Amino acid sequence: MPESTTPPAAEALDFDVDALRAKYRRERDRRIRPEGNAQYQRAAGEFGYYMHDPYTERAERDSLNDRVEILVVGGGFGGLMAGARLREASFESIRMMDEAGDFGGTWYWNRYPGIHCDIESYVYMPLLEEIGYIPKWRYAPGEEIRQHAVAIAEHYNLYRDAVFHTRATDFTWDEESVEWVVRTDRGDTIRARYVIASSGTLTLAKLPGIPGIENFRGHTFHTSRWDYGYTGGSPDGGLTGLADKRVAIVGTGATGLQAIPHVAEGAQHLYVMQRTPSTVDVRDNRPTDPEWAATLQPGWQRERMDNFLAIISGEDAAEDLVQDGWTANARLQRKMMSGALDTTLDPAERERRDELADFVTMNKMRARIKKVVDDPATAETLEPWYRYMCKRPGFSDLYLPTFNRPNVTLVDTADHGGITRMTDNSVVVGETEYEVDCVIFATGFEVGISGVLSGTLPVYGRNGTTLLEAWSQGPRTLHGFYTHGFPNLFHLASIQNGNSVNISHVLQDQATHIAAVIAMADKTGAKWVEPTVAAEQAWCDTITENLVDNSKFLIECTPGYYNGEGTRTTSSSYAPGPIAFRRVISEWREGDMSDVLASARDDER
Ligand code: NAP
Repeated sequence: MPESTTPPAAEALDFDVDALRAKYRRERDRRIRPEGNAQYQRAAGEFGYYMHDPYTERAERDSLNDRVEILVVGGGFGGLMAGARLREASFESIRMMDEAGDFGGTWYWNRYPGIHCDIESYVYMPLLEEIGYIPKWRYAPGEEIRQHAVAIAEHYNLYRDAVFHTRATDFTWDEESVEWVVRTDRGDTIRARYVIASSGTLTLAKLPGIPGIENFRGHTFHTSRWDYGYTGGSPDGGLTGLADKRVAIVGTGATGLQAIPHVAEGAQHLYVMQRTPSTVDVRDNRPTDPEWAATLQPGWQRERMDNFLAIISGEDAAEDLVQDGWTANARLQRKMMSGALDTTLDPAERERRDELADFVTMNKMRARIKKVVDDPATAETLEPWYRYMCKRPGFSDLYLPTFNRPNVTLVDTADHGGITRMTDNSVVVGETEYEVDCVIFATGFEVGISGVLSGTLPVYGRNGTTLLEAWSQGPRTLHGFYTHGFPNLFHLASIQNGNSVNISHVLQDQATHIAAVIAMADKTGAKWVEPTVAAEQAWCDTITENLVDNSKFLIECTPGYYNGEGTRTTSSSYAPGPIAFRRVISEWREGDMSDVLASARDDER
């Protein structure tokens, strides 16, 4: 469905554009913190207990000293899809490794009450037709998604040889044996011809650097390690353990939105510590209609996924199969997500129309709050004053009514840059002290940072060069998958490739590609897989040449991880978007792959 590019006529505007711009600027300025990302601290070291796995006992086992053909580090959907595609290509010797106690990645760790995927399950949950599964809900609960991850692993026999509660501590390329030596925190030394790093982009939980946070003597945990032993209940709610507890929850992002209604229902009293309100669009979740499911023809999931991706990436699509808040606001998402731009308009006119459409959408979001929330002051505090994609859009039909409950207090921390300090029994905002029994941090993750990318998992390539040294001026890859000097190492991540809110779809495309390259290397007897310097440089140039400068948009945004807390101005993704990226790599696959297969070149180095 082509996007409408017609702006509202000037005389039809029932709002003052300049006044809105000024309001957005004021709201941004009250939240900017000069220390940017340094306001956060990693849940490690003295805060390492926040990362304890509350779901699975760590089983003792002997250290491994062996060899596999392919080691996949990360058992979330990226790693699982790589494993699945490799099995389909008849690879037998595959070892999956994860720090978690089972498969699932994000869906293993995040089991907070109310957890759902906010992308439609029929396009988000991968390999539905392969597994023969139809999700029960339009937006699936986290536990159903986690079980689907387990089902994929079982279907493709990926439990065999898998190791859990195991963290890779370094990857070292052994030139002589032409393989990687991977060591782990369980004392393993695993040799692998190929290593696929799929360690996720939302894995390292972050805590705010609140003065006195270490002094709090009540109960505390991060949403990605929900303590049901303390709260009672389950991801479906019923948190009876909180009945006599005063609880503070810090954070009102996508996680906060889903968890808060359930905590409010269970707690004696809940303080919602808000710094920036999320947008809260209609959710409209519903069970899958069995009659609709019965009409689905083979290939239906691929068609639906492609349709969703095309619409949100600004590509032509004759119809909108999903029809939800993501597809309705697709045009606005182009500010943050890669995708095709409307080139029929000059950039200034495009920006003018985008901004007007943005104001109209955000006015609707704000109006919804006033309709649902009874107390006018609370409703006003919940209003988001920024452009739509400054923050990850939120969806909920339960969140806003929560503020009509007598046991819920919304605390606006914006003028104080967040929580001011914590004492042994309270959370303090400005001069006001809120005595609580429990503090729950819904404060998110270091986004886009995995062990490999942060350097906490060092990678030593040829001649002992580390990956971070090779990337000291930013990532350098061919198509985001591999880097010269690091043979047979593949990345499944959001680096120099097409990006989308439906991350499981782009990971699936990446996994398919990696499996095809490994299969070709195997078939042709390639000595190793490694991009030539020229091919890598050409891709880096392509990324740079296609960059869309959205720094003006980002810098005007309220701070958050989308704009590096108010500082970031560049992105390294392939700006034409995931569909264009898929075209690039599928055309490339039709060639002889000589850019990366050492055997296909005259001389390997
Ligand atoms: P988040 O979006 O990073 O939100 C963190 C929250 O903590 C923000 O509201 C932030 O306020 C607040 N905060 C941080 N420091 C604070 C302080 N010192 N005082 C008070 N408040 C503070 O984290 P998230 O909600 O966990 O979501 C992370 C990402 O996970 C999402 O963006 C999304 O990509 C993914 N996710 C997806 C789903 C899904 O359904 N697919 C569900 C949940 C999460 P500010 O906004 O002012 O910084």
